[in-house]
Amino acid sequence: MKSWPRVEVPPLHSKYQLNELSLTNSKTGLIQVVPAKPMYRMYVCGITPYDATHLGHAATYLTFDLIGRYLRATGSVVNYVQNITDIDDPLLERAARDGIDWKDLAHSQIELFTSDMESLRVLPPDSYIGAVEAIPLVVDAIQGLQQQGSIYPINHDYYFSNSPESTFGELSHLSQEKMEEIFSQRGGNPDLPGKLHSLDCLVWMSQREGEPGWPSYLGMGRPGWHIECTAIALEYLHPDPADSFLIDIQGGGNDLIFPHHEMCRSQARVLTGKELAANYVHAGMIGLDGEKMSKSKGNLVLVSKLVSQGIDPMVIRYALMGHHYRDDQMWSDELLSKAKASFEKLKQACSLAEVPETSKLVVEIASALANDLDTPTVIKLLDEWASECLLGGSGGNATDLKTSLDALLGLKF
Ligand code: ZN
Repeated sequence: MKSWPRVEVPPLHSKYQLNELSLTNSKTGLIQVVPAKPMYRMYVCGITPYDATHLGHAATYLTFDLIGRYLRATGSVVNYVQNITDIDDPLLERAARDGIDWKDLAHSQIELFTSDMESLRVLPPDSYIGAVEAIPLVVDAIQGLQQQGSIYPINHDYYFSNSPESTFGELSHLSQEKMEEIFSQRGGNPDLPGKLHSLDCLVWMSQREGEPGWPSYLGMGRPGWHIECTAIALEYLHPDPADSFLIDIQGGGNDLIFPHHEMCRSQARVLTGKELAANYVHAGMIGLDGEKMSKSKGNLVLVSKLVSQGIDPMVIRYALMGHHYRDDQMWSDELLSKAKASFEKLKQACSLAEVPETSKLVVEIASALANDLDTPTVIKLLDEWASECLLGGSGGNATDLKTSLDALLGLKF
């Protein structure tokens, strides 16, 4: 799949020596160092293109954009892979409900998503892989699991069986009862007759009448969601055999911890005997005025709509950075207005011929980012510096500051 256009990232001045990045690992609940290395492998779950992408999506991909920018600023290469689930039940259901072709629906929603990412200056993935184009990989992965004795049929569908070696449950740490409850809410069927274990997940669904299907040794059908990400991550990130894990970071919104990431981890473990990710990183959800954002409630805030109303995408970026990535947050007009005022002040300060000390500010911003991506502190530092700047002061270098803000935060004036 074609990714969105490349975003130029200026190099950070060599005088800035960055600390190792620390991030909260959802598996351990601890803030954990991402050790320095020449190349990182990062996989972030992409969208299922059936519904409008909103600020919640923007916040998630912004989080991994900041992680990618920081790791790149240390001089490392980041191999970044993202999927797009361009065939799945929600997409087919929505297309049928609205009387449109599922391919047209997917295409229009992918366009909307990628244009949002482009306007927010989110760095595109190096590999942007659709589920449909990944079907041969997925089928190979299912075959690999079958060779381990972990695949069984129910009617003409195929399921992945969680064996003890998969250490299922060690990512999300939920009780069996809770896992079954969430699994049911998110499309799973723990009570399906013929299942070996209630939480076994679908890896290959046989073609249903009126639905698309692709040929495979399992018959005509389509892949399950979890195995799609497992197969794409393993193929496109080329794990290093010397590592005890397969990739450095697996990421997404915190609604993906269970069942999606738990399932991917489990499948990868059975396929390779290794831990999928050294660090599982999850972003919080965004609501509006006290409620969860959803199309059914009619309260989606869309990046494209804000931009069409004249809001600078950099203000949206700045506003989203005002909260910590792991926390759920409520969006409001007031939050946006405050961010706009603070950003305009910063922009004005950076345009002055004389500005106060900036090197110390860049060091402090980098330190805050290294500390589990503490963007609220970054915004506070910028706001305080801009206020000081407007009162006068000299000794700083506005050009260097602007370059640093672009490199580390993706902010461009
Ligand atoms: Zn995924």
